[in-house]
Amino acid sequence: MVAVRRVRLDELELPLVEPFETSFGVERRRRFLVVQIEAEDGETGLGECVATQHPLYSSESVATARWMIETYLLPLLWKEGALPPDTFRTRARVWRGHPMAKGAIEMALWDLWARRHRQSLARALGGRRRRVEVGVSVGIQSDVPTLVRRVGEYLAEGYGRIKVKVRPGWDERPVAALRKEFPELRLWVDANQGYPASAAGAIRRWATRYGVEQVEQPFPERALAAHARLVRRAPFLVCLDESITDLAAFEAAVEMQAVTSLNVKAGRVGGLGSGRELGARSAGAGLPAWVGGMLETGIGRAHNVALASLTPFTLPADLSASGRYYRQDLVEPAFELGPGSTLSVPRGQGLGVEVVESVYRKYVHRHREFRRKTP
Ligand SMILES: [Mg+2]
Repeated sequence: MVAVRRVRLDELELPLVEPFETSFGVERRRRFLVVQIEAEDGETGLGECVATQHPLYSSESVATARWMIETYLLPLLWKEGALPPDTFRTRARVWRGHPMAKGAIEMALWDLWARRHRQSLARALGGRRRRVEVGVSVGIQSDVPTLVRRVGEYLAEGYGRIKVKVRPGWDERPVAALRKEFPELRLWVDANQGYPASAAGAIRRWATRYGVEQVEQPFPERALAAHARLVRRAPFLVCLDESITDLAAFEAAVEMQAVTSLNVKAGRVGGLGSGRELGARSAGAGLPAWVGGMLETGIGRAHNVALASLTPFTLPADLSASGRYYRQDLVEPAFELGPGSTLSVPRGQGLGVEVVESVYRKYVHRHREFRRKTP
């Protein structure tokens, strides 16, 4: 196995094009970690950690991910070298939890692996699609007319399906207004765990009445029984995101009939290997799956697009063009929306996009570099 020579662990902060509000709160800037692994032969791999600055989406944060990487995952790399990603995944299992920290390293190893084998990441994963169908996720807005206008702009840009964030007090009214304005709209909603189980009846009524195709994670992460009760009476898809932290959580949800659609985020489940397996299991269980996003820059987006090129992912991904999130992306070429609400899958080696160092350096908040100690 090729030894790892150097690891760069940078903390970046990028301003978002516009504030992104969910039932958790408002994000104006995205703070995140980027890992770059350099092997002894000079080949490198990049991974973006999706942990957020504060532990709101899940229990992980930038600080816990940094601690996990520095304390446990780097020593593994120094000892074992640039492991094949699936071997890393197995080895890293001895430590509980921390899927986002593990995922950042695993994804960097995938990029490295694909580059070493002179193939695109999509091909290395077994992806077949050249373009992936995508939609846009629209945060909570200041008022309903603003939401209707924003959605109209995204439709004009060519997005074929719209997901809006909802929470108690911001649900039926905005959804009704969107349906009235856009009778043909392919509409999803995402509550990010914002409702108590007692809200199931009301959610079912407005989602059915206004033709919502999919309701995502209405109840808390562990409330599988509440999701199962909604599934029993819902004419729409009930999607799980935060609840599915690993394959065992997915099996439990399927067993309980608490899920009819699956949002797969590689970072949430420890990396691309687990993401790919979840997609396959989901298809095996007859459930549609799709790839979600965490406001990644072009680095993480390239990983996500490669994952979405796999055939089990049949619903449009939450992977918009670079300009939806950031004025200036960290990579070139930037992701642009193409015909039929699609992004094209990069075909170059590894991620198929290159970091623009001058832009990248501008947003580095904290830089750390680690080198293998030679005996
Ligand atoms: Mg979600």
